[in-house]
Amino acid sequence: MKKSLVKELEKRLGKSSVLIDEGDRALFSYDAAYGEKVLPDIVVFPENKDDLQFVINLMSENEIPIITRGAGTNLSGGTVPVSGGCVLVTTKMNRILEINEKDLYAVVEAGVVTKQLADKVEEYGLFYPPDPGSMNISTIGGNVAENAGGLRGLKYGVTKDYVMGVKLFDMAGNEVIGGGKTVKLVTGFNIPGLMISSEGMLGIMYEVILKLVPKPATSKSMLVEYSSVIDACNTVSEIIASKILPSTLELMDNFTINAVEESEKIGLPVKADALLLIEVDGHPAVVEDEFIMVKKICEKNKGNVKVADNNEERDKLWTARRKALSCLARLKPTLILEDATVPRSKIPDMMKAIKEIASKYNITIGTFGHAGDGNLHPTILTDKRDEDEFRRVEKAIDEIFEKALLFGGTLSGEHGVGLLKAKYMEMEVGKGTLNFMKNLKMGVDSKNLLNPHKMGL
Ligand SMILES: Cc1cc2nc3c(=O)[nH]c(=O)nc-3n(C[C@H](O)[C@H](O)[C@H](O)COP(=O)(O)OP(=O)(O)OC[C@H]3O[C@@H](n4cnc5c(N)ncnc54)[C@H](O)[C@@H]3O)c2cc1C
Repeated sequence: MKKSLVKELEKRLGKSSVLIDEGDRALFSYDAAYGEKVLPDIVVFPENKDDLQFVINLMSENEIPIITRGAGTNLSGGTVPVSGGCVLVTTKMNRILEINEKDLYAVVEAGVVTKQLADKVEEYGLFYPPDPGSMNISTIGGNVAENAGGLRGLKYGVTKDYVMGVKLFDMAGNEVIGGGKTVKLVTGFNIPGLMISSEGMLGIMYEVILKLVPKPATSKSMLVEYSSVIDACNTVSEIIASKILPSTLELMDNFTINAVEESEKIGLPVKADALLLIEVDGHPAVVEDEFIMVKKICEKNKGNVKVADNNEERDKLWTARRKALSCLARLKPTLILEDATVPRSKIPDMMKAIKEIASKYNITIGTFGHAGDGNLHPTILTDKRDEDEFRRVEKAIDEIFEKALLFGGTLSGEHGVGLLKAKYMEMEVGKGTLNFMKNLKMGVDSKNLLNPHKMGL
């Protein structure tokens, strides 16, 4: 990076918002995925829209790639600066600008932390449902760019269902405003829709307008133990088919239960082959009815139901689920978390396939996830330095994806493509779609400077 450029950036943003030391830059050479590390040439933290535009213009003039980064919690290598360049971190653009109780929306800067927004709107009796497991640190910009889901996706949908408007800059520094504060809006292309799952490749968002909903009056949670994971999966399919929509319907297999219990000591049933964590919410009368119906379906499928009697027990259950990934991560040096997703009726087939693949390649896979959305997280525990095992792991991943597509599913329900799934893109979407995406990107970023080489583009 030219000294004169660094000086210009330091003058505009302040020295503490520009990182050039190798040790500092190293912290931005990777994200939460398991791939290779690549050092960026510089890391900057703009604090407002004007500074952001200044950085973009400077990089654009000098043809330096920009890799936008929120909290770096993505699981697909989406923020690794593969060809160097400038990592632009949004975490200093972190103000909640408006919470509108009359029109039920919030306006936030892109670097606002998801949990910070969720907690704030609760103070107004409102609800922002998308709750990725990483919500304590993930940013709204990252959630939009990955279309993050969460534990409540089954009933409340995912991030894309809440994005009403976005403000962003393209790589030429032009300001782009899409969507707005009205429930209906069809003036022009659906630009907020275009930014969903865009993985930092089409523009850099600095502001997002998000839909809010009334907070549900009450909720009831249960933990259901199974001596066969397939019974648990059949329960999920039957609940969905019975037209009940729990707010949450999560699955943990025996391996994951033990990993969480060993670390958290909260009394999970370590002998169970699987458990389901289920919550229904809404008006008290509806909650009571749905709860009874769900319980019956669980028992019919040989589930042993335990009801969370108070808020403390309920919180324990959800903490256990949210900690699944970090508890598994403690067990081996390399953790590979996949999120192949299938139509919900295919959950039992997918679960069987994952078990068979683990045994065929003699590797350890713990599975948990948003079973109600058909979104399982087969989590492979390995050590990348063990070349023989890692080769088997790579073959297992290929097969997991092939199976998911065979069952009518997708490579990624919520973690995005980034670098790690780029090579599989064509297998799912075909050449025509890839070319369409390429043309779209070249139309707004002709020099391919915005997060280049992601998604195979
Ligand atoms: C423990 C753990 C649990 C997780 N649980 C879930 C889960 O339940 N559901 C789920 O969906 N995901 C989950 N994830 C994945 C991850 O947290 C999400 O993808 C999240 O949305 C990423 O947010 P971030 O701020 O960390 O974004 P980053 O990782 O920093 O960036 C993600 C992508 O967004 C782009 N981007 C970021 N900000 C902007 C912006 N302002 N404008 C344009 N592009 C931008 C980046 O370039 C990158 O391509 C989990 C991750 C971890 C580590």
